[in-house]
Amino acid sequence: MIQNSQDLFKRAQRVIPGGVNSPVRAFRAVGGNPIFMASAKGPYLYDEDNNQYLDFINSWGPMILGHACENVEKAVQDALGNSFSFGAPTRREVEMAELIISMVPSVEKVRMVNSGTEATMSAVRVARGYTGKDKIIKFEGCYHGHGDSFLISAGSGAITLGVPDSPGVTKGVAQDTITVPYNNLEAVKIALEANKGQVAAIILEPVVGNMGLVPPVRGFLPGLRDLCDQEGIVLIFDEVMTGFRLAKGGAQELYNVMPDLTTLGKIIGGGLPVGAYGGRKEIMDCVAPAGPVYQAGTLSGNPIAMAAGYAMLTYLNEHPEVYPYLDNLTSKMVEGMRENLTQLNLDYTINQVGSMFSIFFTSDPVTDFDSAKQSDLALFGQYFNSMLRQGIYLAPSQFETLFVSIALTDKLADQYIAANLAALHEIHQ
Ligand code: PLP
Repeated sequence: MIQNSQDLFKRAQRVIPGGVNSPVRAFRAVGGNPIFMASAKGPYLYDEDNNQYLDFINSWGPMILGHACENVEKAVQDALGNSFSFGAPTRREVEMAELIISMVPSVEKVRMVNSGTEATMSAVRVARGYTGKDKIIKFEGCYHGHGDSFLISAGSGAITLGVPDSPGVTKGVAQDTITVPYNNLEAVKIALEANKGQVAAIILEPVVGNMGLVPPVRGFLPGLRDLCDQEGIVLIFDEVMTGFRLAKGGAQELYNVMPDLTTLGKIIGGGLPVGAYGGRKEIMDCVAPAGPVYQAGTLSGNPIAMAAGYAMLTYLNEHPEVYPYLDNLTSKMVEGMRENLTQLNLDYTINQVGSMFSIFFTSDPVTDFDSAKQSDLALFGQYFNSMLRQGIYLAPSQFETLFVSIALTDKLADQYIAANLAALHEIHQ
């Protein structure tokens, strides 16, 4: 019974484009209408009709401690007592910057913004200002938010809706964005040769979550680091998804490759709208008012958002056991899914890094955007809906990763594995 959700969606479509405030929330890729959520606690979401779902989206990543976790809730309540926004600097912003710098190995200075999109747009501007060059290299299927220069061969919702190059992005902007296949160092070298002396930055998701989950192949990240060093190019790791998730210090800590700039979002706000970009002092000192590259924000460093993010990061910083817990639980689910596939004589690809994982309905390895697109999307849609009927809330797109939170228990992981078996069985009947 989802009558209230259906009614709300009808109303929403009259007043909001497509009825949603972010495209991938619509269920267009999987069929059916979106479910409207009313509340959440721990591992569960509750919809407007009081149905309960085991949540594997976790607000698209931020809720690594589960929903409404008490330390974040308390921090927000305490901060509310001092009013909501001052437009002047606050102690919390200093403490937040110090904490981020202590956790993320390559970050020496950091600027707070309000979303991951703002972080990536600003980081690229700074890289251009610092190098005096215009072009950037990005990878097909990587999503870096909805800034114009990134909507060229973008992943996530852009693939899901089949508009890899969005109308409204000018040819001029598109000309400055060079796209190459992920995990392909040779293609990067060729692109650099063809654009000698013109490339300001290479930006990538060090582990991709926006074409489903795709890990970097061995040598890819260090290879990019070397190329950037040779050519004087700023290497930007977009760790909006992977930051504070794959390790305290994100993917750069896990793979021990240091970018020049890092973009952050999602977990950093504890569920409130926060982003950040940071990196080497020398580059960050180009940012206004220290330097000439302009970037600003009325609500940047908002005290309530800082309180939420600081509480979440502090928990992660003080509880390193979170990471092996999440990794082991996710590995257990992935193992369970693999056993289910064997039992049903199926051969699909599952990718996992830490607490991020995806199933692709193809038997070939998925290492880049082209191979991700080999997945049978119709089958994914059926699988998604079967899981939903069993109370498991997955991302409504093949081209998204799933996220695990510490609110998930061993028993709930078993429930997930059983639902996966039932869904695979159902879609192959
Ligand atoms: N970068 C990556 C890797 C992302 O996954 C996202 C969003 O999913 C963004 C940037 C954009 O972040 P936001 O949606 O907060 O603007």
